[in-house]
Amino acid sequence: MIPYGRQDIQLADIDAVLEVLHSDFLTQGPMVPRFEQAVADKVGARHALAANSATSALHIACLALGLGECDWLWTTPITFVASANCGLYCGASVDFVDIDPRTYNLCPKALEAKLEQAEQEGRLPKVVVAVHLCGQPCDMAVIHALSQRYGFRIIEDASHAIGGKYRGNYIGSGHYSDITVFSFHPVKIITTAEGGMVLTNDGALASRMNLLRSHGVTRDPELMTHEADGPWYYQQIELGFNYRMTELQAALGVSQLERLDDYVSRRNALAERYDVLLAEFPVTTPWQHSNSYSGRHLYVIRLTLDAISLSHCQVFEALRAYGIGVNLHYIPVHTQPYYKQLGFQPGDFPEAERYYAEAISLPLYPTMSEDQQDQVVAALKAALELS
Ligand SMILES: *Cc1c(COP(=O)(O)O)cnc(C)c1O
Repeated sequence: MIPYGRQDIQLADIDAVLEVLHSDFLTQGPMVPRFEQAVADKVGARHALAANSATSALHIACLALGLGECDWLWTTPITFVASANCGLYCGASVDFVDIDPRTYNLCPKALEAKLEQAEQEGRLPKVVVAVHLCGQPCDMAVIHALSQRYGFRIIEDASHAIGGKYRGNYIGSGHYSDITVFSFHPVKIITTAEGGMVLTNDGALASRMNLLRSHGVTRDPELMTHEADGPWYYQQIELGFNYRMTELQAALGVSQLERLDDYVSRRNALAERYDVLLAEFPVTTPWQHSNSYSGRHLYVIRLTLDAISLSHCQVFEALRAYGIGVNLHYIPVHTQPYYKQLGFQPGDFPEAERYYAEAISLPLYPTMSEDQQDQVVAALKAALELS
């Protein structure tokens, strides 16, 4: 089986993790701050805080922005459920904005129209989570301008997008958002096994998220309500969590980060090669905005169902039968049973549902060979019954 994605672990990664195992600290040592500094320096953010997953990172990002009961969080329906669940964790309500049929990202025009209506109804969102699907950045300048007009905060869910650029700046530099979140799950661009990170240029938000990821406990005398009882003293001043990353994970992250640019350029080269190989196929290949450089986490094609005599599911199953580990990113979140029970219905976000009826993620990962890629293309040709 050629998988849709896979991590690349090299000897340097293994050595880095082993070194931590032999050291004094398995957690709360020097490697986590080193990883945080390395990512912050790489992408040009002032503050970076590692967490045990992007899901945890999204949770503390929402809390730091003050999201709570009676508030709304908006995101795209074409994302992993975590981009929406973080709002529910905080007791807020979640709503969605339909996708742009060209980029498959949250559509800025649909966002503007929905904001206009929400303003009249007095239910403007407090937070918008912009997901850079497949690594292609959302139109952040437009979303940022809307945030100024309507007073919401922006989290970039950049789980797919580390190493990519928007208008010449690395994703995570935070020019158009309050907080950016990365994921280091093994299928993502670089991995720490499980792991995530929040980045911000706002010192107050960073300090708040730092507390929330570790029980709301501080040893900083500046933050305490009174003078320390003694050298052992710490204070809990918030209700936080244990969302910390381990030293082993951070060491793996530091090592992986050194290959980030190579990974992303290899992903781009393979994606461009797919574009050429699939040019005559009855599929839509991923449109790319000229103002950005995608991390290319996923290569999603959309079947032109009118031009083929097979169903979406038949093509998908045929590819799996040929040993191609295709996948589908994503099932629209509002159609999940948990969200349906909150009142969402099929038909609520038609562009997202149309996308879901046609999309297939083809294998793409940096160690994929051209030979393997040719096998994927040959299997797709056979699956589509093209001669
Ligand atoms: C993977 C992913 C997440 C969750 O990441 P974890 O690190 O597994 O918690 C959130 N949002 C998106 C868009 C993702 O792809």
